Amino acid sequence: MSRKMLQFTHLHQRQPDKRGAAERRKDFGEISTAFGVPQAGEQASRCEQCGIPFCSIHCPLGNNVPDWLMLVAQDRLEEAYAVSSSTNTFPEICGRICPQDRLCEGNCVLEQSLHGNVTIGAVEKHITETAFTEGWVRPVLPGAESGRSVGIVGGGPAGLAAAEALRRKGHAVTVYDRHDRMGGLLIYGIPGFKLEKDVVERRIRLLAESGVRFETGVEIGGTVTFAELRRRHDAVLIATGVYKAKPLGIAGSELPGVHAALDYLIAQNRRDLGETVAELNAAGKNVVVIGGGDTAMDCVRTAIRQGARSVKCLYRRDRANMPGSKREVAHAEEEGVEFVWMAAPEAIAGKDKAEGVKAVRMHLGMADASGRQSPVAIEGSGFTLASDMVIAALGFDPEDVPALFAEPGLKVSKWSTVETDVALMTSLDGVFAAGDIVRGASLVVWAIKDGRDAAESIHRYVSAKSAQAAE
Ligand code: FAD
Ligand code: SF4
Ligand code: SF4
Repeated sequence: MSRKMLQFTHLHQRQPDKRGAAERRKDFGEISTAFGVPQAGEQASRCEQCGIPFCSIHCPLGNNVPDWLMLVAQDRLEEAYAVSSSTNTFPEICGRICPQDRLCEGNCVLEQSLHGNVTIGAVEKHITETAFTEGWVRPVLPGAESGRSVGIVGGGPAGLAAAEALRRKGHAVTVYDRHDRMGGLLIYGIPGFKLEKDVVERRIRLLAESGVRFETGVEIGGTVTFAELRRRHDAVLIATGVYKAKPLGIAGSELPGVHAALDYLIAQNRRDLGETVAELNAAGKNVVVIGGGDTAMDCVRTAIRQGARSVKCLYRRDRANMPGSKREVAHAEEEGVEFVWMAAPEAIAGKDKAEGVKAVRMHLGMADASGRQSPVAIEGSGFTLASDMVIAALGFDPEDVPALFAEPGLKVSKWSTVETDVALMTSLDGVFAAGDIVRGASLVVWAIKDGRDAAESIHRYVSAKSAQAAE
């Protein structure tokens, strides 16, 4: 069926149905159902086909959104998949977990003109899920082998996007990861209710079928030295992400019952993957999560699903100044999380184990250089939240990569992120870097973009080596 475009004047915006909070808080399945064919086509037909598409401009991958929306409106889904997958390695993942309200959808002109944005993320998910069902998603099989090899450190979205692009060019690719599974934060960080695990595993299987070699349980800098890695491969990509949790820095932080957010999320993700993990379960506990970002939202919503007695989120600023996505905060509230705004932790109460969080009320003071108001403690406003499980979710910094890799010549910034030139090459010849380790904690879509860009540069670099060798 071919639909006309510009239907926004009479077709209202509709997101895919969400499961009710009472139902979804009982399991770790995704909370939204997918669009069916008629809804996806109708929603796509709302697009204005802008001459200057702000949706594409604000998509880190520069996805050709208007074209694939038009193809979906015309029920030409195979072509829509060809267009969408030409710029995005994992469109079904971005369709699910990009913060679209800050990227493509938030900048759609229909949103700006108060008609309600085109539901771009949900349509992107629909296109790729249809492609998987129909068998249009196939492993990349290069025409000829280049005879060159690339080693990738880290199997998160940056490393995997680079692996796919390099394999496409015919290079031998090995991805090393210190975890026992590939996927990085896609598999062990982001909970199943945002991104089900089999969606990630399906992609990893495809890459393996393309000939990408995976070596799990290999810590570069530990099991294998970085120097050895450079000897093994013609070029190396560092895509190690950022994993040093920002410390709580208050008395009692070391008490049993105080946990790092990622340890807590990894334990639940392992359960979702079918493993038995007894520890780090919030069932029956009074949980306090400290922090206001997306990791904190993932922790509170995980605790609800585990059957915690109560779940509170302690954040030192107010709702408007919270870094976490507004959509995720709304989901958490619907599911029963209580937010304690404008309050900062001062100490963990308890002698032998955590029994509560001592906190103080805050008010927003003068704006700092970035224009953001700094929270200031209100004297004498201390209070204690009873809690036998405290989760610290204050964000992540990069590890000391030059020390870890015994490569003092690897240049890093004052924030310890790895420095690169415009081609994403580091200060070491033939060593490239991509994703969070370059940007600091960021987004999956940016990691994919960097991985793809780094692969282009690596291809040029190893091809030049081949040309030199032939002279
Ligand atoms: P990672 O995904 O971190 O992967 C790095 C990999 O490198 C890991 O597998 C690690 O084991 C491996 N590694 C590290 N050091 C070594 C070593 N020395 N040797 C071998 N292997 C090594 N972004 C979104 O867009 N949407 C979301 O909803 C979202 N939710 C998030 C929720 C949580 C809880 C967290 C923590 C992050 C979330 N993010 C989200 C951010 C997103 O996950 C990251 O920006 C993205 O995964 C970065 O990709 P990457 O490939 O650079 O690194
Ligand atoms: Fe939007 Fe993300 Fe898809 Fe880009 S990749 S169009 S930002 S959902
Ligand atoms: Fe369509 Fe909105 Fe993009 Fe314009 S900005 S092309 S209306 S999706």
